[in-house]
Amino acid sequence: MNDRLDISSEPESGPSRDDSDQGRKPRPFLGVKFDCCGIYSRIYQNKKATHYVGNCPKCAKQIRVRIGHGGSDNRFFTAF
Ligand SMILES: [Zn+2]
Repeated sequence: MNDRLDISSEPESGPSRDDSDQGRKPRPFLGVKFDCCGIYSRIYQNKKATHYVGNCPKCAKQIRVRIGHGGSDNRFFTAF
């Protein structure tokens, strides 16, 4: 069963390029307009990647934007 257990010496030319990128990837963000104060700012994905969450830089109101709702082309939202 442990015929081919060779974890510690993976060939560098392997197709597993995604592995080295993991953990260093910048977190996706969204540009939003905080309607409360009329300010544009960025909010970032939460850990589960279900929402973008952030706080208004001026009044600290928290907003969330759901991810994967079909309108992924639209990078800018207005927070109400
Ligand atoms: Zn505000």
